[in-house]
Amino acid sequence: MATKKIFFRNFAEMKQQRKIINIVVAAGSGTRFGSELPKQFCELAGRTVLDHALERLEAAVPGALTVVVLSPQFIDRVSGRFAVCGGATRWESVRNAIEATATVDADIITVHDGARPLPSAAMIRRVIDACDEHQGAIPAIEMTDSLRMADGTPVDRSQFRAVQTPQAFRADMLRQAYRMPYQSDFTDDASVMSAAGYTDIILMEGDPMNLKITRPADIDIARIYLDHGCNDRR
Ligand code: C5P
Repeated sequence: MATKKIFFRNFAEMKQQRKIINIVVAAGSGTRFGSELPKQFCELAGRTVLDHALERLEAAVPGALTVVVLSPQFIDRVSGRFAVCGGATRWESVRNAIEATATVDADIITVHDGARPLPSAAMIRRVIDACDEHQGAIPAIEMTDSLRMADGTPVDRSQFRAVQTPQAFRADMLRQAYRMPYQSDFTDDASVMSAAGYTDIILMEGDPMNLKITRPADIDIARIYLDHGCNDRR
């Protein structure tokens, strides 16, 4: 019994001591959203979409360093936080943040889309904790629509998952992976890790309410989720 208690105390201490960097990418122009102001700066229940994301990450992982990646024209929109200029692709934006924090001591780096305002604390902690056992962890949800290949061939929906953020990785491995040149199939950070040979990436339970704001109606949907108690403690 005594041994068990000591194990748990040390495990909790180990978790507290982990050094974490949260990269939040928000340098996209969001062409599908159709407004002049990029979607991450749109208002959602009194704050911007990006502020919701930042506040949830900071509340779930106190003490982590947050790096916000922004287009140069919006760099002064986020005050009091470490801001980095983004690039032409999401990959380039993440790479800029990784380079800007190259000398910061870190065990785990998470990467989150600033266009996802409603990640839950439980999900954020779930992917981070999984990095104790794996090279990385990503939230994923089952598909609800029927799926076909672009050529019309039906596929088995149960074999597919939609992947979300935040994605969490061992810091040294993600830094190594982002030294590789860009490939067009780098759709997220897990795909960059896999291309670098870090394939021990576990899929964890995502959350349908962790939506990525893509079209104007998504703001209304996010507001409804908030009204129905989609809080960061879920
Ligand atoms: O365009 P999409 O919604 O897939 O972008 C995902 C996230 O990546 C968004 O939060 C967006 O702001 C960010 N991004 C970026 N730099 C780019 C393109 C996208 O930071 N060049």
